[in-house]
Amino acid sequence: MTSGTLNITEIFHSIQGESSFAGWPCAFIRLAGCGHGCIGCDTAYAEEGGSVLEIDEVIRFALGFQAPVIEITGGEPLLQPAVHSLMRQLCDLEQKVLLETGGFLPVAGVDSRVHKIIDLKPPSSGVCDQNNPENIELALAAEPTHRQTFEFKMVLAGKDDYDWATSLLDEYRLTDSFTVMMGVVYGTLDPAELAAWMLRDRLRARLQLQLHKYIWDPARRGV
Ligand code: SF4
Repeated sequence: MTSGTLNITEIFHSIQGESSFAGWPCAFIRLAGCGHGCIGCDTAYAEEGGSVLEIDEVIRFALGFQAPVIEITGGEPLLQPAVHSLMRQLCDLEQKVLLETGGFLPVAGVDSRVHKIIDLKPPSSGVCDQNNPENIELALAAEPTHRQTFEFKMVLAGKDDYDWATSLLDEYRLTDSFTVMMGVVYGTLDPAELAAWMLRDRLRARLQLQLHKYIWDPARRGV
């Protein structure tokens, strides 16, 4: 294995809660550091601090859970260049690897075997203007067989966000080629309301709830 270190907030075993992999037992590797300051960030504790671990140690820890999927998340995992080595090594070990990124940094250098869950931040996040258009362009330029490794996620707080989301989906015809998951900011937008809009508009996106927030206390860490 290649050596190197990563600054890690936590490594834990839980149920994947918000993607097309929702429901699968999952080993989560949460990298420390972000700095984007999205309004309503539910992992603000990962924005600073962390413990420096050898990549080999991170891999051993994560594999110990024997989970069918391993998710690398944050914070913003792409801020640490060594994350690419981690992802590559996990793929070489024939693990199913998910990367969840805030969508501000390009995913261009990510190993093509990794399933990329890319946030598209709506206006209510306060950082909508920081969405990196390169990621949508990269996904659209991918070979059809490779497109399934891209997935987009929108977490919405109200009707303005929904209108922004549908106009973005129309502009890039994202649902023609990709899985698009649409969810609600927990406790802010009623999922039934979002469901009604999606059905009314015949949207070809998937409604998702943050599963872990319904299973456990929504404020709980490490789930
Ligand atoms: S990108 Fe993610 S971790 Fe960073 S501030 Fe935004 S929601 Fe929080």
